[in-house]
Amino acid sequence: SLLLEGKVAMISGAASPRGIGLATARMFARHGAKVVVLDLDEKAAAEAAASIGPGHRGYACNVADRDACQKAADRAVADFGRIDILINNAGITQPVKTLEIDPASWDRILDVNLRGVLYLSQAVIPQMKKQGGGSVACMSSVSAQRGGGILGGPHYSAAKAGVLGLAKAMAREFGPDNIRFNCVTPGLIDTDITSGKLDDAKKAEIAATIPLNRLGKADEIAGAYLFLASELSGYITGAVIDVNGGMLIH
Ligand code: NAD
Repeated sequence: SLLLEGKVAMISGAASPRGIGLATARMFARHGAKVVVLDLDEKAAAEAAASIGPGHRGYACNVADRDACQKAADRAVADFGRIDILINNAGITQPVKTLEIDPASWDRILDVNLRGVLYLSQAVIPQMKKQGGGSVACMSSVSAQRGGGILGGPHYSAAKAGVLGLAKAMAREFGPDNIRFNCVTPGLIDTDITSGKLDDAKKAEIAATIPLNRLGKADEIAGAYLFLASELSGYITGAVIDVNGGMLIH
């Protein structure tokens, strides 16, 4: 049966063809949701939305821009009348070490991965309150939990760890409004975020160290988001779901 019939879902960072966001948009659409794809480029967002079927929308929205987040939320309400689900998925990474993190890189990584979660949540929460509830899922990473994944520098680990604290605090604050906040912490997922940073030999080497002996697929993160977005997880808030093939077991 359809898990998201009649729901409206907004997903940030969802235009990348092989990315987790678009895989999630596609899965949500299959489960009956109307989807709003957000990404940096309006044309890419609109094309991504069109690629998952009729009736979906794509808007330009830089999540680090507070006005842009508010405009995207207003536009979604104008187009669909409601927002039931928010997936704070947009993110960027940079493989550098501590002594190489310059101020501009710190700002860039923190702005998209952490500040963006605050801004887009702030834009959507009042509408969810009005509707009597909602579900928000936020993208963290195994690198938040173990101090570095494979690709992210310490600033990325810090940003993704910040997401865990922010989401847990919002879960506490908005529980009485029936708005749930949860996080996913993926291990290494085969998307274009690794392109130019990891070759096939390096991927195979990493896969050998993972209990399930492979990288994860974008659809396997989409599945966790689907669970968190749907009423199957109706009593789950403030939780963190590991989707890492056993890379971190704790
Ligand atoms: P991806 O690069 O394919 O997708 C990221 C998307 O975010 C892109 O479409 C990009 O255009 C968009 N984006 C970047 N900056 C943005 C901004 N300021 N505003 C709006 N959109 C923006 O990579 P992905 O692997 O699908 O990554 C999705 C999320 O998953 C990211 O938050 C990433 O940090 C996280 N993550 C990925 C992995 C992995 O191994 N792939 C592991 C853990 C966490």
